[in-house]
Amino acid sequence: MSTTESISKFSEDTCNLHEQVEKIKGFLSSKVPNVGHALFLRDQLQAEILANELINIKPYPQPQQMKNQTSKQVQTQTSQVSNQPPSSIPAVPSPNPTILLFPNSTSSDMINLQTKIDSNVNLKELIKSKSPAKRLPSLIVHNVPSSTTEETLQEALRDQLHLSAPLNLRFKFRGTIQDTSNWVFEASASILQSTLKIQKLHIGWSMFKIKEFFHIKRCNFCHAFGHTTKDCTYQIPSCGSCAGHHATQDCLSQTICCVNCFESNLFTGTLHPITHPAWDRQCPFYQKEKQQYCSSRDYN
Ligand SMILES: [Zn+2]
Ligand SMILES: [Zn+2]
Ligand SMILES: [Zn+2]
Repeated sequence: MSTTESISKFSEDTCNLHEQVEKIKGFLSSKVPNVGHALFLRDQLQAEILANELINIKPYPQPQQMKNQTSKQVQTQTSQVSNQPPSSIPAVPSPNPTILLFPNSTSSDMINLQTKIDSNVNLKELIKSKSPAKRLPSLIVHNVPSSTTEETLQEALRDQLHLSAPLNLRFKFRGTIQDTSNWVFEASASILQSTLKIQKLHIGWSMFKIKEFFHIKRCNFCHAFGHTTKDCTYQIPSCGSCAGHHATQDCLSQTICCVNCFESNLFTGTLHPITHPAWDRQCPFYQKEKQQYCSSRDYN
């Protein structure tokens, strides 16, 4: 790229940058600030800047020259092999590809970045991408009395799921019934299959619901996905039931309206059905989160 070209490319990028920043500001300064979309735009902006930076990198020597040079050097090497000690052979620069670890290879920004790298002759050979190793899925045992020990639970799991070793406990959290806990364990896909068969875990005379657990964050204050209440940046709550500006437990409305679908329709022109609460498992926002979560887990 010539200097003039890089300057015009630079000012074009700067212009895009300003445009994008203005867009983000717009989303944040509206009457009902759409933080989710602003963050999405910010992520996209960062990915675009990174993609542009990478495309402007000029590797030295150019891969094509390096290839020619390498084959020439190999020829020289072969012809001189009898009278040259190995130490005097010119060092061939070893192509050491940079490994990019993609946090989520299904994200459209990352796919976009990968496409840009692949279509750039210089970068294609120098940058290789690799997805992080996938983690195992999880299972959950619901509403187990707080007095139950992990040992008792592990024994029940071992007997009823026919396990050879205890499962790794991930964490436990308060159940929906008083004085109970939900226990979350790491489980392979085949163990999940076994839980589908039994559906309930027997402990003594009681039975507890057991199923796959999806690690999905939804804020109880604004109901957006991807963060929890303690990390929420909103000052005013949104109702998960009617989308009004009050806490869900204070709702007096008969109307059911999903705040995420409603705001998305309003601000981004989507046409999602809105007559469901924010926690509805059929909500397109929940479904998208679940899909993303599942693509990060190892089901083989
Ligand atoms: Zn929130
Ligand atoms: Zn409400
Ligand atoms: Zn919805």
